[in-house]
Amino acid sequence: MQDFSEVNTPCYICEEEFLENNLKLLEYVQKQSGAKVILALKGFAMWSTFPLVSQYLKGCTSSGLHEALLAREEFCKFNPHAEVHTYSPAFKDEDIDEIAKISDHIVFNSPNQLFKFKERVKEINPHAELSLRINPEVSSSPKDIYNPCGIYSRLGTTLENFDEKVLEYVDGLNFHALCEQNVDALEEVLIAFEEKFSKYFTGLKYINFGGGHHITRKGYDVEKLIQIIKDFRAKYNVDVYLEPGEAVGWETGFLIASVLDIFKNGINVAILDTSAEAHMPDTLAMPYRAAVRNSGEAGEKKYTYRFGGNTCLAGDIMGDYSFDEPLKIGDKVIFEDQIHYTFVKNTTFNGIKLPSLAIYRKNGTLDVVKEFGYKDYKNKLS
Ligand SMILES: *Cc1c(COP(=O)(O)O)cnc(C)c1O
Repeated sequence: MQDFSEVNTPCYICEEEFLENNLKLLEYVQKQSGAKVILALKGFAMWSTFPLVSQYLKGCTSSGLHEALLAREEFCKFNPHAEVHTYSPAFKDEDIDEIAKISDHIVFNSPNQLFKFKERVKEINPHAELSLRINPEVSSSPKDIYNPCGIYSRLGTTLENFDEKVLEYVDGLNFHALCEQNVDALEEVLIAFEEKFSKYFTGLKYINFGGGHHITRKGYDVEKLIQIIKDFRAKYNVDVYLEPGEAVGWETGFLIASVLDIFKNGINVAILDTSAEAHMPDTLAMPYRAAVRNSGEAGEKKYTYRFGGNTCLAGDIMGDYSFDEPLKIGDKVIFEDQIHYTFVKNTTFNGIKLPSLAIYRKNGTLDVVKEFGYKDYKNKLS
């Protein structure tokens, strides 16, 4: 591993080798199971890596017009057979023509939406395949904010709201019920999904199992996933799609920041040139504690610091971390595993600079692919 002490901070560094390892594992799942794996742009949209990603994955899933455009422009140019799937909780009249034009699959959230747009979509793009998102009403998602099947969920159609008339128009059905989960959680969802909906599978071309499959995490039961998909495909004679976001970007890189100031107010406080609120949003939303390289829990090593961001939000705190040696102003701090669900969600809150984006190549070079400045802040405002 290169010494990153010269990098201008803050900067996300995606390690090509680790990304490719994830892609190879996902390709293995595709080959062995016969499923198609597409990238959920919501979790990972570093399009400078798409020359690589598009060699392995079969396309992208997007949550609306802008992600679909990115998929079409930046993914399909490297893989003309790549598929663009587009889902939104609700589509807008003014977007639907363009979405229809550039999407291979369009997934509606409710029978209402399907009935409203099906004809227009087919007029614009007769080849577009249509699907309805199902809510199987089973999920063991660890956090409510990331549970698509929680009580009163707006995401997907429940059995009660299912209208058999949709079967005349849909080519497949989708569900998305998992978050960072192993294959046992998928099995539970499939039991409920099949019990409620398998009577409608006749004539369908595909079932999309959504995302949340933590395939690239150590300990994920890849072989069992492959078996489940093979059994499902054989039982119902359908194609299966998986659309992971997190599993693509999982442990493929880090956010590097610098210590700007250190002082004591009851505890040692270190201020960094990054922000939990603006650059590591899940540390506050999930919430969770990002790992910091060469650190321990508070009090575990000799010198403990509370890491805070460079904004005026009182709660802009990454957590408490301990080190063997005292930190100094100017030291670099590395937050591990900061490539998924980070820069896709970043804001310019407080006008603080967005972290640069870089790729650490397999040959040891560091390509800074994007730097941000004042204009990015100003252009969002008026
Ligand atoms: C968020 C999302 C995904 C990707 O989920 P991950 O947890 O990142 O794998 C896939 N499909 C849909 C419909 C989603 O909303």
